[in-house]
Amino acid sequence: MKNVFRGNWYIAAVWFLLLGAYVLISLGVPAGTARITAANILLCVMPLLVNGALLINAVTPDWRKQAFWMLLSLGCTFWLAGQAVWTYIEVYHHRNTPYLSNGYFSNVDIIFFLHTVLMIAALAVQPHKPSDDRKLLYSYVDFGLILCWWLYLYVCVVIPWQYVVTDGKRYVEAFSVVVLLQNIVFVGGAIRLSMSATRYWRRIYGHLAAVEAVYVIRLIIIQVVVGRGSYTRGSLYDLPLLISFLWLGATGIVAYRHRDEDSNASVQPATQSAQDANASTDTIWASRAARLALFSLPLIGFWCLRISEAPLAVREFRLLVSLGAVLPLGVLVFLRHELADREHLQVLRASQESFDNLKRLQTQFVQSEKLASIGQLVGGAAHEINNPLTAILGYSELLADDPSAAESARSIAVKIRDQARRTKTLVGNLLSFARQVPSEHRSPIDINAIVNTSVQFRRFDLRGKNIRFVVQAEAGIPEVRADMNQLLQVFSNIINNAVDAMDEAGGGTLTVKTLFEKGNVVILFSDTGPGMSDPNLVFDPFYTTKPVGKGTGLGLSICYGLIQDQGGQISCYNRSEGGATFRIDLPAIPVAFPFSPRSVGATTHREPAKMA
Ligand code: ADP
Repeated sequence: MKNVFRGNWYIAAVWFLLLGAYVLISLGVPAGTARITAANILLCVMPLLVNGALLINAVTPDWRKQAFWMLLSLGCTFWLAGQAVWTYIEVYHHRNTPYLSNGYFSNVDIIFFLHTVLMIAALAVQPHKPSDDRKLLYSYVDFGLILCWWLYLYVCVVIPWQYVVTDGKRYVEAFSVVVLLQNIVFVGGAIRLSMSATRYWRRIYGHLAAVEAVYVIRLIIIQVVVGRGSYTRGSLYDLPLLISFLWLGATGIVAYRHRDEDSNASVQPATQSAQDANASTDTIWASRAARLALFSLPLIGFWCLRISEAPLAVREFRLLVSLGAVLPLGVLVFLRHELADREHLQVLRASQESFDNLKRLQTQFVQSEKLASIGQLVGGAAHEINNPLTAILGYSELLADDPSAAESARSIAVKIRDQARRTKTLVGNLLSFARQVPSEHRSPIDINAIVNTSVQFRRFDLRGKNIRFVVQAEAGIPEVRADMNQLLQVFSNIINNAVDAMDEAGGGTLTVKTLFEKGNVVILFSDTGPGMSDPNLVFDPFYTTKPVGKGTGLGLSICYGLIQDQGGQISCYNRSEGGATFRIDLPAIPVAFPFSPRSVGATTHREPAKMA
């Protein structure tokens, strides 16, 4: 803290020294060549120092801050360039009549004009905002817009008095009005930014507003004094100019000394939504300003045509310039809108995607909860039923095979045994549904091989059915870590359901497709059957549309649990062109070289995988 104070005192001392030197020159040296020379040299040295103070802040990876300080310093450099030309005119040519009478050098005014344009552009970068790379393009377009519009204003308002109808008095008036407007815009912008920013940047913007306010005061004073004809370089009237420059330099140094506050502030977590809200208000403001700039052209054109009392040649010139400016400004505004549209579209897509994800997650959550609670209930009941059922099955088998028993009793025993076996299968299914314990036999698996095996198994049993299987296996997809038997169980269940559905419809084709997408291995089973009556219910336990004795409604709910257990997802939908599709996503094992020659061999004609 002590160091900071000491540092600030050093700066203040240097500044006071410079100011003191100027005051001494101004009061001590009589008006004349010596005073003009000394004052001019001081006025050239000062922006150089200020430039250094600004540029030390530009050493940052953050593009916004970098651009801000660079533009400020570039503005300062422009001022320096203008001042250097002035020094040359006044010291070397000994002329001190400003503006038009300096012939070729009268164009130097535009350099002074551009210095504030660059500073306005620096404010438009808004360095207090987070440096989102998306905004970089916007910044270029905004810079183009700012430059284009101010140049247009200059060419429209000032230039005619220089080249169309030469009129020194009106030229000075027009120039002063435009420059005054510029600086007022800068002060207004800096005040607005300082109100919206916090701490570090609030202070910097505040300083800049003050710097430019002093500059505005100096402009007004000079205007009055030049009007009276009592202005000479080196007089006290230039003191506000010095103050404003020194203040700008001090701002650069203060910013540098307190840069830690800025980095601390940017580390503070800003929520994504807050950032997005910030960014969107940012875009709205900037695009409003851009539109305003474009609409100002016809208004200025109208003013030239109907209201202005300038000579006809000037009015014509202004009208032409307004028409000519429509093109570059229009292109830039169009470009800005195009960028904004593209960004809105991206945001819309992203929010739609997150909404879909949320919905899917919710459905999955509800499904898992439902399965878990039903599973508990069913598991308990099945376990209790299983023991007496085993006894019934055992005794009925004994009785059915007992040669000493009566024939009628044996035939009843066979019926009891068959029903008991059916019930045992059902209870087995119930138990495997309820169990859903994490698998312990996971190993890297080539999905294409498992798919081919499952299809081969079922293919043997398609006799008499008008059903075809097509496998479209993507070559070179990564392996997944899973339990092979469980995957076979899931695939077989889905294939069996598809066969049942297509058989009902008199035949069809089941296409099994594998692919690699966003880090997942995806398996798609698409049949050409009648589709599901209610895709939302198929994973519910006991939901079946099959006749009694054929379906239990447990197959898919078991599959659901098994796939979740493997860290994957299963979903289904009816396709618009007809038929049902089941989709399984399994996380792929990350590999350094996903398309290694070993895995490229997986094709449609692969041999069935060996069962574990
Ligand atoms: P089950 O096969 O015992 O009926 P599942 O849980 O395997 O039990 O299937 C539940 C229900 O889902 C089936 O009864 C059927 O109505 C529907 N289903 C499953 N796969 C398909 C498919 N490919 N086409 C049409 N409906 C299907």
